[in-house]
Amino acid sequence: MSIRKKVTILGSGSAGLTAAIYAARADLEPLVVQGLQAGGQLTITTDVENFPGFPGGILGPELMEEMHKQAERFGTQFIYDNAEAVDLSKAPFLVKTSSEEILTDTLLICTGATAKLLGLESENKLMGHGVSACATCDGFFFRDKVVFVVGGGDTAFEEAMFLTRFASSVTLIHRRDGFRASKIMVDRARENKKIDYILDSVVDDITDVNAGEVKAIKVRNLKNGKTQELPADGVFIAIGHKPNTDLFKGQLDMDESGYLVTNGVKTKIPGVYAAGDVQDPLYRQAVTAAGTGCMAALEAQWFLEAQEAAHKEATKAQVAGK
Ligand code: NAP
Repeated sequence: MSIRKKVTILGSGSAGLTAAIYAARADLEPLVVQGLQAGGQLTITTDVENFPGFPGGILGPELMEEMHKQAERFGTQFIYDNAEAVDLSKAPFLVKTSSEEILTDTLLICTGATAKLLGLESENKLMGHGVSACATCDGFFFRDKVVFVVGGGDTAFEEAMFLTRFASSVTLIHRRDGFRASKIMVDRARENKKIDYILDSVVDDITDVNAGEVKAIKVRNLKNGKTQELPADGVFIAIGHKPNTDLFKGQLDMDESGYLVTNGVKTKIPGVYAAGDVQDPLYRQAVTAAGTGCMAALEAQWFLEAQEAAHKEATKAQVAGK
């Protein structure tokens, strides 16, 4: 089936839904291709206490549901599918899902990023119940708790430092004895007496799935093969993120990690905007994603208004010339 739209939004996380609210309230009747993990990363977290407006906190999935309702209330249309291909070589831009072909005057890319995980079944099952991929989001819940951070990059060090504000102990587990993190981060962490290190080691398992909470981790030393089980309350996976940009390879500029390169929220193609984690390797917060989602919707609105004004001028000139 073919659909014609002024505004199409790819992704239904905080950026995509905020863009939808703004575009819908501007009477642009946006279409959101929501992806198969509708609601984005907030749907795999529990309490959100740093999104303004919720003094008592709100569950991540609930927050996304509320945003979805708000977008729907003003006339946003949703497609429960992934975008499988896009053609940005000419306007209107083409988006293909498994069953629809969408032609759109503007495209707002809000496909987010996915936290890389270790690939353990227990990690998946305990996500949001002691396992987290975001210390800024969840660190507060680990006051006086024993936590571990997995990774050796800047994020792991930043998260370990941040967690020392709350946790009784923070241990960084890294698979090598050299760090990818910048020297300044490593030096700063080394000065923090609350942080311990387990190096040349990997996490083989996290227990206790049956109890629905983190109780211990199994750590294996890669050099001597020895395994130890350590009591734990929380495990923060900080091994990087992968921006969801495969669809745009060869069509839009990306940095070496695959994040879309933007000027504000503008890509190099007029009418194509990117908002949220897909273009933000640094802040990666629900509220910053919402902010850039708003910016992308306003840019799309202004772009369409300018196009319409130019079209009117051209028609007027044509009529006057006759
Ligand atoms: P990153 O630099 O890619 O580091 C990922 C870390 O996770 C590496 O130490 C890597 O180990 C480890 N790792 C990857 N896969 C793993 C696996 N399957 N099992 C165990 N360990 C694994 O990612 P990042 O730390 O998220 O940083 C991303 C970017 O943001 C970087 O450019 C960083 O500089 C930047 N950043 C900057 C700041 C800041 O300046 N304040 C803060 C945060 C992030 P190996 O080293 O062995 O590959």
